[in-house]
Amino acid sequence: MTGTVKYQLDESKIPTHWYNIAADLPVPLPPPLHPGTGQPLGPSDLEPLFPMEIILQEVSQERDIEIPTPVRDIYRQWRPAPLYRARRLEAALGTSAKIYYKYEGVSPAGSHKPNTAVPQAFYNQQAGVKRLSTETGAGQWGSSLAFAGSLFGLTVEVFMVKVSYQQKPYRRALMETYGARCVASPSEETEAGRAILRAHPDSTGSLGIAISEAVEVAAKRDDTKYALGSVLNHVLTHQTVIGIEAMAQMDMADDYPDFVIACAGGGSNFAGLAFPFIGHGLRGAKKPRVIAVEPASCPTLTRGHYAYDFGDTAHLTPLVKMHTLGSTFIPPGFHAGGLRYHGMAPMVSHLKELGLIEAESWQQTECFAAGIAFARAEGIVPAPESTHAVKSAIHHALKARGAGTSPVILLGLSGHGHFDMQAYSDYFAGKLVDQPHDEAELQRALGELPSLS
Ligand SMILES: *Cc1c(COP(=O)(O)O)cnc(C)c1O
Repeated sequence: MTGTVKYQLDESKIPTHWYNIAADLPVPLPPPLHPGTGQPLGPSDLEPLFPMEIILQEVSQERDIEIPTPVRDIYRQWRPAPLYRARRLEAALGTSAKIYYKYEGVSPAGSHKPNTAVPQAFYNQQAGVKRLSTETGAGQWGSSLAFAGSLFGLTVEVFMVKVSYQQKPYRRALMETYGARCVASPSEETEAGRAILRAHPDSTGSLGIAISEAVEVAAKRDDTKYALGSVLNHVLTHQTVIGIEAMAQMDMADDYPDFVIACAGGGSNFAGLAFPFIGHGLRGAKKPRVIAVEPASCPTLTRGHYAYDFGDTAHLTPLVKMHTLGSTFIPPGFHAGGLRYHGMAPMVSHLKELGLIEAESWQQTECFAAGIAFARAEGIVPAPESTHAVKSAIHHALKARGAGTSPVILLGLSGHGHFDMQAYSDYFAGKLVDQPHDEAELQRALGELPSLS
């Protein structure tokens, strides 16, 4: 057989539980700290921002967390997501490796993000919340939460990083189509936004700034809570539907991955695909090499410090221990907007420290080249973020050709690039340049890491 092969699970195989890796860790995750006292956070500290059910999931040590029936009913529209064997890509590369990809672009918003947007909207609605505030980078999260909010009758307000707001007008139109309000960040609507604009009137924004604005709105309004699309434990847990399904699908294919590869911005699609495999390994099964792939211009895992830092620029969030470039680091305006966060999920960072995962970084032009090779072989145009995983998978597949081995590679294709065609046009026009991270900017931002005495 030479065509691409699809491994499709029956609807009854939509997972009934999310997987919480905290239950299997050899060393517990360092706790989040209160920004004022430096003491470990209690659940009540998070109550202004999140409903209690989500707070309990954030600190849960239970391995299996039940997926509520209304959430599974919505998942049914696009889950189980397909797993493909990329036979045509393998042939184009002339590799002896087997390449599988788990495709999350089949959701209504076009990425993995509705996997957590839907349960977050559900738990908030159950708790009587009326409005959600959030931030978005490339617009993927904003449109996913807008979609989920529309299902549960919640008003959604999105602070969108200004550079993406300008680069991606159709993502904004999608959010508005779902009924959300979208504001370019930094904005005049919050103290945090106004402070940044006073200091840097032409700031193009960052996720750290947009988070400050969204958190400020939720903290100030009784009817409003905050929703985050990545980084936090409960978000990573919700995304494990990806890996749980992929495990069953690899079983159908009668294979087990030697490599599990996904791109990492805040770490949620990576965690979603990889954690079930890592957990399986921790409980005694074969351990694949697990690789988180990031852009060279925002190299959190590969160049950041592992330290307690704030999640946002205005320092409104708790301190969490993570790989960070410093909460005031502003990455250059490259096209994979979803990978422009200064930090990494604490759980992903912890696993890196424990040696359970690896990290790689690649330049954007080599990622686009890989994305185009993928599209020409498989027909699916990857999101700019997802091209990082494709690049890494191709790299390891070509290395196998040199070494005469036949590894099984599973990559996460976190979304499609249909809203990102301007980036592809820019690539074809030769307008995309590689921007290594700015070393002086990095040293400045790292110098501002909070000191905990
Ligand atoms: C948001 C996004 C990412 C990055 O976020 P993670 O939390 O690291 O997964 C990657 N791919 C796509 C398609 C996205 O929308």
